[in-house]
Amino acid sequence: MKKHTLKRILALVGKYPFSLVAVILFAAAEVAATLYVPVLVGDGVDLIVGKGNVNFEELKIVFYKIGVAISVGFVAKWLVGIFNNRLAFRTVQEIRNKAFDKINALPLKYLDSHPHGDTLSRVVADADEVSDGLVMGFTQLFTGVLTIGGTIALMLLTNWKIALVVIFVTPLSIFTSRFIAKRTYSYFRAQTIARSEQVSFTEEAVSNLKTAQAFCHEKENEADFEKKNAAYKSAAMSATFSSSLVNPLTRFVNNAVYALVVLFGALQIAKGGSGAAAAAAGALTVGGLTKFLSYANQYTKPFNEISGVVTELSGAFVCAGRIFELLDEAEETPDSSLGDLIVTEGKVRLENVSFAYTEGQKLIENLSLTAEGGKRVAIVGRTGSGKTTLINLLMRFYDVNAGEITVDGTKIRTVNRKSLRSRYGMVLQETFLKTGTVRENLKIGRESATDEEMIAAAKACHAHGFISRLPQGYDTYITEEVNLSAGQKQLLCIARIMLSLPDMLILDEATSSVDTRTERRISDAFDKLMKGRTCFIVAHRLSTIKNADIILVMEQGNVVEQGNHETLLKKRGYYYNLYTSQFATPEN
Ligand code: ATP
Ligand code: MG
Repeated sequence: MKKHTLKRILALVGKYPFSLVAVILFAAAEVAATLYVPVLVGDGVDLIVGKGNVNFEELKIVFYKIGVAISVGFVAKWLVGIFNNRLAFRTVQEIRNKAFDKINALPLKYLDSHPHGDTLSRVVADADEVSDGLVMGFTQLFTGVLTIGGTIALMLLTNWKIALVVIFVTPLSIFTSRFIAKRTYSYFRAQTIARSEQVSFTEEAVSNLKTAQAFCHEKENEADFEKKNAAYKSAAMSATFSSSLVNPLTRFVNNAVYALVVLFGALQIAKGGSGAAAAAAGALTVGGLTKFLSYANQYTKPFNEISGVVTELSGAFVCAGRIFELLDEAEETPDSSLGDLIVTEGKVRLENVSFAYTEGQKLIENLSLTAEGGKRVAIVGRTGSGKTTLINLLMRFYDVNAGEITVDGTKIRTVNRKSLRSRYGMVLQETFLKTGTVRENLKIGRESATDEEMIAAAKACHAHGFISRLPQGYDTYITEEVNLSAGQKQLLCIARIMLSLPDMLILDEATSSVDTRTERRISDAFDKLMKGRTCFIVAHRLSTIKNADIILVMEQGNVVEQGNHETLLKKRGYYYNLYTSQFATPEN
């Protein structure tokens, strides 16, 4: 799995070979320049042998070289940053686009069975983490390893004995800091826990002050709080104390190594003499020692960086894995090659339909029913009885496990989903408004509609009045949260469906209470909308149920009774019970 992830990431990054090569080349140039500066400084020091014995001519050249090396390093670092960012942002842009397209292509089943927050965080946060961690981390790792390798090589070339001292003793500081960091982490955790306990306790105390006072519980609360506060104090002090140890301790170890190198080096120099002559003879010189000291300083830095990068990289890997998981989900089977649904009268039939969300958990079994064209079908039943499921099947959000659904004799499995869904108009309890103008929202189902048609639909649905009173009328920008009332939102949604001229309708009546005037308007708008169209209505209002041509009574996934209001009442069965328990006495 992990190897697979890496391969796929490399494939993504590899789509930008120019940026990738640029990053690698400039990173290498940066490392080379950085490593070359100490060499030059060492050479310079060797040119200063003593009072009156300074080779100014050559020293000048060395200075120039140092200047050039530093500039090259600076420019290379800057370019690495630029190309790196290009690489990172392009990669994440591509991943995001793919993920978003994927979400649109997924069957509803995926979104129904995965928390939405999880899917969102895959597209947004995880993608960010991948770009930060992977692409940035990758170059840091690359330059880090290059720096370490280069430093070791250069030190070994200069003087292998001192080189070994630096190579093996310097990492001591890393172990020390790692050791303390581990302990510090647990202290910090304790501090965080103590703090969150304190916060929730305070929150509780503030919001329940009345209860506490009513029970005369203030003293106990204070004592509890003091205990929690003391725990927080000791955890915070331990955490701060041990974290503040890291810096001095690592510095101490570093300085000790430094001193060791100086001691060792000085002894060698004393043996070999000094100046350019000694350098030429291959002995360690003061300049050589200077070089070493810079390397000793530089050597540990990449280690620390790399360990940080590794954590970041592993995080990025996990996130990339999560995105790839999403990208690998099975999509709805492509059906664009199938023909369009042609609706003539809108007769919908279910023939021996069986369906279950999860295998083995039976829900709808062997259901058959017919809705003649233009008739109203009211679906009633307790919560969880399968009303929404039936609608999911009609719209092909889910496919039946057995049996067939037909529209005017055409099996809906033999036409493309888009044409099926566009023939249905759907108004659900949860109104959905997209962020945009009222006009955009109304024309969402039929973008080719003219403004006259739009206004006519709005008028028919009693929406024109309040829309005209909005600050910019039909051009008012609305969002999901904007200050439209629940009833107004519902009216907008109805007008939207009215405008899209569907052949069949699916309505989920709102149970949310709107004032009676709005309620009357909504139900009038619904009536106009339903005229001449086959309608499936998840009904909550008695008037809707009474006016329906057929009532389907659902119970545990099955239609247990069908018929109209009078015949069903006479049966004294499920419908009768439901009706008497929900609405007034059957006599009225
Ligand atoms: P309500 O009146 O509360 O909206 P409903 O009649 O619409 O109820 P459904 O949503 O059709 O009921 O649910 C029927 C059964 O199917 C329930 O037992 C429910 O737990 C189950 N169910 C619904 N959606 C899913 C799903 N996506 N995955 C698995 N089971 C589901
Ligand atoms: Mg439902």
